[in-house]
Amino acid sequence: RPVFEATGVGKTYANGTVALTDVDIDIREGEFVSLVGPSGCGKSTLLRMIAGLGQGTEGEMRWWEQDFGAVGQAGRKLAFVFQEAALMPWATVARNVELPLRLSGQRKNAEQVEEALEMVGLQDFRNAYPRELSGGMQMRVSIARALITKPNLLLMDEPFGALDEMTRAKLNQELLELWERLRWTVVFVTHSVYESVFLSTRVVVMAARPGRVLDDIVIDAPAPRS
Ligand code: ADP
Ligand code: ADP
Repeated sequence: RPVFEATGVGKTYANGTVALTDVDIDIREGEFVSLVGPSGCGKSTLLRMIAGLGQGTEGEMRWWEQDFGAVGQAGRKLAFVFQEAALMPWATVARNVELPLRLSGQRKNAEQVEEALEMVGLQDFRNAYPRELSGGMQMRVSIARALITKPNLLLMDEPFGALDEMTRAKLNQELLELWERLRWTVVFVTHSVYESVFLSTRVVVMAARPGRVLDDIVIDAPAPRS
């Protein structure tokens, strides 16, 4: 089932910058798609458009075969992970992870928080504060906070870009193992070809000036859930 489809999509910003031209892309359920390309090729612009933030200036986009608005909040459960873990410094790890549930008015979240912390191996740090954690651990908290909502589309914008190389490799391995277990649909922005090939079932290669899709490579069709 298609999660997202773009046909002939272009984006020109108000200042005249042509960020994307003629982009055709489709993302199917259970795929781990990475968008890879040099700085300025429009990866973040495309990711934001997939998130329904910002319209194209040309072309057509569909989410679950509908317009973004028509899908409705409940149908399009999106979660974002950015390069900055962006945790609340005054709140514990557990509180940070719980945040999306609280924002949607949910109570009695302890079990889901534990489950999310377990996914990223941070159960023993539930009462720690972000400043007590390493960069890699903070990013794990950020991933747990995204996963707790059970998103049907997870958007990751260069999530490990600020980490040192060893930590980055470790988190890539963990993310891959987690995805193999859970099989959400992921769009992952990176400028690392290595990372994109390591993680994805599909690599969309982009180029700059103007931003466009050069190639769309299926690495591995997602196996059915076991
Ligand atoms: P990437 O994520 O691949 O680095 P971006 O999507 O951030 O690329 O940017 C694509 C192009 O659009 C770049 O030339 C960038 O300078 C420009 N751009 C991004 N955001 C804006 C904006 N809000 N207004 C004008 N130009 C922008
Ligand atoms: P980074 O991912 O930033 O490199 P590490 O994961 O290496 O950070 O962790 C930094 C320190 O925290 C290490 O001493 C590591 O043993 C410890 N640590 C990290 N994750 C856990 C965990 N899940 N349980 C216990 N200790 C951990």
